[in-house]
Amino acid sequence: MNNFFFSNFSRSYILFLVIFFSNTLPAFSETGVSVFMYHRFGEDKYPSTNVSEEQFYSHIDYILSNKIKIIGLEKLVKMLETNQILDQKAVAFSVDDAYSSFYKTAWPVFRDNGIPVTLFISTDIIDKKTKGYMTWEEIKKFINEGGTVGQHTASHLHMPLNNVSKIKNDLLDSHKSWIKNIGFIPKLFAYPYGESSNEVIDILKEFEISHAFGQHSGVISNFENKYYLPRFSLNEKFGQLERFEFAVNAYSLDIKNFLPIDMFLTDNKKPLIEFSVINNLKGNSIDCFSNPNGEWSMQELTNITKNRIQIKLKNKYLSGRARLNCTTKVDEKWYWFGYQFLVK
Ligand SMILES: [Zn+2]
Repeated sequence: MNNFFFSNFSRSYILFLVIFFSNTLPAFSETGVSVFMYHRFGEDKYPSTNVSEEQFYSHIDYILSNKIKIIGLEKLVKMLETNQILDQKAVAFSVDDAYSSFYKTAWPVFRDNGIPVTLFISTDIIDKKTKGYMTWEEIKKFINEGGTVGQHTASHLHMPLNNVSKIKNDLLDSHKSWIKNIGFIPKLFAYPYGESSNEVIDILKEFEISHAFGQHSGVISNFENKYYLPRFSLNEKFGQLERFEFAVNAYSLDIKNFLPIDMFLTDNKKPLIEFSVINNLKGNSIDCFSNPNGEWSMQELTNITKNRIQIKLKNKYLSGRARLNCTTKVDEKWYWFGYQFLVK
């Protein structure tokens, strides 16, 4: 379900990246934070939302042994809010839905190594004491031991697919539960399924939520839409160490004035995509992959001006989630921008 932009045809491309990164690690002198998202740990019945314990340990071992800078999501959001320059490449960790396997397998590793991690929680499922999920007691213990929590709606709502009053009521329900069970409303927010729309973003603003995380791949910088922050999703397929290393070491491809303006495509399955690139590409070209017709392929790019790029998709997107991933290599470093549309 969580797609990475490499399909079979481009295996050689990833192999190249693996070889490249195993030999040269870029100096951490530029901006960007790669945020990772996990769900389950060591629950191999659910490969699309699970990483094996071995995969998880290999990620943490890589971060620690290469002394990668790690920051908490709260600090990252504070920096984005105050427009502080992210002057060092860093990573951050998040886990969605509060499955018991996080608490049992992963939390002790994060905690004992002093690695900040944020748990995004939909409150209803915890309120219902659902088997396989953490309890409020465990969540309180997690917070007391240094963990951070974030909002994820009450009912794990497909937010853009619901009307305004349903969304507002759901957010209010989750706030009541947070107050009742832990005494405060978390500042951080992540969209269930990573799905949003301009209408949803307006509601979050009314609720004084200053930013929100999706689940499309990409590296965060000050130029990122603060209500649509990317996170690299890790599961059994996309949790291999090579892909993880690539994401850790990728830099932010900074984009502004992205079109279409709404990530929820309600009446056009073949949008004209446009954006302006801020980075100095030094003459290097950008490659964009997307999945119109449900199949990943490299897209044709047209320069409207020197820094403004247009993508005319060859085919329509299918209903559901559609993704776009653009990368470029400048001075031996990879830069990444990712986007997700929800298509009606
Ligand atoms: Zn979720």
